[in-house]
Amino acid sequence: MNEQAPNSIEDRISVLRTHWERYAAKGRFNQFIEFAVAVNSLAEYFNQLRLSGLVRLCEGLENTVLAKMGDETSHPLAQQDLLSLQRQIDTLLSSVANSRAPNIEHRTTAPAATDIDWIKPRSVWMVSAPGQREITDAMGSQLRFFGFDIHELGWNSGPVPESAALAVLFIPANEHTQTEELAHIADIRANCPASQLLYLGTQSAIEPIVALMRAGIDVTIPSEGQTANVLNCILDLVKINEQEKFRVLIVEDSRVAAALIERTLAQHGMDTCAINDPGSLLEVLESYHPDLILMDMYMPRFNGIEATRALRQMSAYSALPIVYISGESDVGLQVEALRLGGDQFIIKPFNPVLLAAIIKTKIERFRETQRSSRLDGLTGLLNHSAAKLHLKAMLSQTPAQGMLTAAMIDIDHFKAINDTYGHPVGDQVIRRLAWLLKGRLRSHDLIGRYGGEEFLIALPGISPTQAISVIDRIRSDFCALPHAYPGGVLHASFSAGVAAFPEMDTAAALTEAADAALLQAKRLGRNRVEQAQ
Ligand code: GH3
Ligand code: MG
Ligand code: MG
Ligand code: MG
Repeated sequence: MNEQAPNSIEDRISVLRTHWERYAAKGRFNQFIEFAVAVNSLAEYFNQLRLSGLVRLCEGLENTVLAKMGDETSHPLAQQDLLSLQRQIDTLLSSVANSRAPNIEHRTTAPAATDIDWIKPRSVWMVSAPGQREITDAMGSQLRFFGFDIHELGWNSGPVPESAALAVLFIPANEHTQTEELAHIADIRANCPASQLLYLGTQSAIEPIVALMRAGIDVTIPSEGQTANVLNCILDLVKINEQEKFRVLIVEDSRVAAALIERTLAQHGMDTCAINDPGSLLEVLESYHPDLILMDMYMPRFNGIEATRALRQMSAYSALPIVYISGESDVGLQVEALRLGGDQFIIKPFNPVLLAAIIKTKIERFRETQRSSRLDGLTGLLNHSAAKLHLKAMLSQTPAQGMLTAAMIDIDHFKAINDTYGHPVGDQVIRRLAWLLKGRLRSHDLIGRYGGEEFLIALPGISPTQAISVIDRIRSDFCALPHAYPGGVLHASFSAGVAAFPEMDTAAALTEAADAALLQAKRLGRNRVEQAQ
């Protein structure tokens, strides 16, 4: 439905390079805008791939670019601004080159993403002060359980030897941060520009936190509940559920204007659909499910304000963001348009960077509110109904000759854990299993909390045999995982039942068969994985 956007990271980088070189040669404002769009598009793409370190660098560059944008009169930029931009671009591109990790093992093989060799690094470096042996060992073994490769470095002992590390975790002595420690952090920041830098055990004052952030720390983690917080931070870096493309419906009677908008949004990685006649609005809304409508003000038959008012009467569309785009410069009319149900007004001719930024922030907020109703509060996984819907969607995208394996997982004798150690300890066991699944499965696998201590997972492109071996490894690691309770540690286990497409060809048949296999696993003694017959 829209113009072809650049596909691979290489394409996007070469677009960025070209626009930068053009700007560097001629110094025109328009060229700078094209360059800004390319930077934004690359950041967007890293975001989709959840390459958080590269997103961090790219957004840093984007902020500088936006700060220098100004208008026609601000260009060409001064020599020193050009040089500092060039430095930021060089850092970004060399980090991109370092992030290629073709040999990193993915827990379930055969990832389907096109950018197969852009797998997130899973190595975590721990830089710990003398006297922190115990905590370092405990944290290291926890992280290993969740599938991370752990390396250690002494406090103040030189650079991290691997610039593509996922995260660097500082475990300081319990005193105040010293100036030389800050310098050491800054050195590591410079060497690992794409890594997430975490600092454990901060004082409650704001000033030392600011000093740490200036040195390059991304996140400071309070001392209480350390392990859980560190795990959460690091697992968030390899988060599940890659973002779907933003979907924008353009209602605009001028085909030229619509094509121009579609091109701009495609450059920012968004999906678009354009209609020229607002009369077909309802049918298109039903089939396209946009995240936002970009509405022209003046169209034949009825105008954008009337269309918006009509949509706002329908509960399905009462919260959908609607942005007007119009040549209308009458402020009174703009206010009226907003009062009658619009969310924002953009004047033509539009600045493409601004248009994309407005649309993106509106959609992010809209999706965030939608998302919170789909996620389970205890674990952050998809809840029961969202997991079911997602499985249906996954099946509809699986080709007839394709493979997909689903599994139902249930913690063994969980009632006894609750009864013996209390509900909060039970909750912690549920959360740990959720983390383990998140840490071990791929970003595009489905992981849902299906019931109290029951999980549904689905692995596209994976055969039952492969799935059983992955799940069985998670099973044996989970039952070795010690869970702390006030009087000591306890161990838990789970049973799982596996069923596969195409043998089962609907979501209901799949979950039913996986459930039956799970029951069989329970009957055969628990702590095992069974396949549906
Ligand atoms: P089995 O090995 O057969 O699965 O035995 P079980 O004890 O796990 O059996 P069952 O599935 O019937 O028990 C599940 C228990 O989980 C019952 C319920 O009290 C508890 N539960 C459900 N949701 C939660 C929760 O969110 N937190 C905690 N702590 N417990 C929960
Ligand atoms: Mg018009
Ligand atoms: Mg159970
Ligand atoms: Mg159960």
